[in-house]
Amino acid sequence: MAIKIEKKITGYNVVKPEDKVAANPVTVAAPKEVRQAEVIQMHESVERPETLVGSTFKVKSPLFEHALYVTINDIVLNAGTPHELRRPFEIFINSKNMDHFQWIVALTRILSAVFRKGGDVTFIVEELKAVFDPRGGYFKAGGVYMPSIVAEIGAVIEQHMKNIGLIHDPEMDAATRQLIADKRAAYEAAGAKKNTDVSAAASAKGEINDSGFPPGATLCVKCNTQALVLMDGCQTCLNCGYSKCG
Ligand SMILES: [Zn+2]
Repeated sequence: MAIKIEKKITGYNVVKPEDKVAANPVTVAAPKEVRQAEVIQMHESVERPETLVGSTFKVKSPLFEHALYVTINDIVLNAGTPHELRRPFEIFINSKNMDHFQWIVALTRILSAVFRKGGDVTFIVEELKAVFDPRGGYFKAGGVYMPSIVAEIGAVIEQHMKNIGLIHDPEMDAATRQLIADKRAAYEAAGAKKNTDVSAAASAKGEINDSGFPPGATLCVKCNTQALVLMDGCQTCLNCGYSKCG
């Protein structure tokens, strides 16, 4: 039986005599074999196609004078089949600031190599996000704490992996969402009763943080957001629902 191969051959299997014996002659066993062999997973010897699709993220950090431009290009495996898979293939970082050029080049080369190795590459997000700058981090819009520029690169990769469906946000269940809404309402009601003047003055001065969490909210250890407030003597996060009292 002749099979026309329309794609580049990236791997093959030799059909052994026992496979032929096992195959039911009535069902079309041969095409099934071919289909299975065609599903390509990411591995070191997948060649770079001429064209890759990608995204560029602009990163502004108070630690850097100039913006960083992070480009992540993806390879689409098994395009047009039910096994279509979009995976990061390479990463480049560009900036006017040349001071950190060496380690940026080293980092991007290693990250690209990890992407091309295949397997689960999402672990690098947590590795990078856990890097702390000894000079201290900074807050992003939305009150999210960024412990270093490396962590920021990790956050960009995470965002990209979410965009291409490689990482999924854990679904917050309805009960947790309701709990946070209740806590927030209670906190706001208590605050309104106590000191309308203070919060009005605070908002006039622009002290309510970007994400709309109360002024004076501190950093939540669970979600890295400035949304931790004191309620009934207990530190409670109005973003993720974390509570120090369990
Ligand atoms: Zn939180």
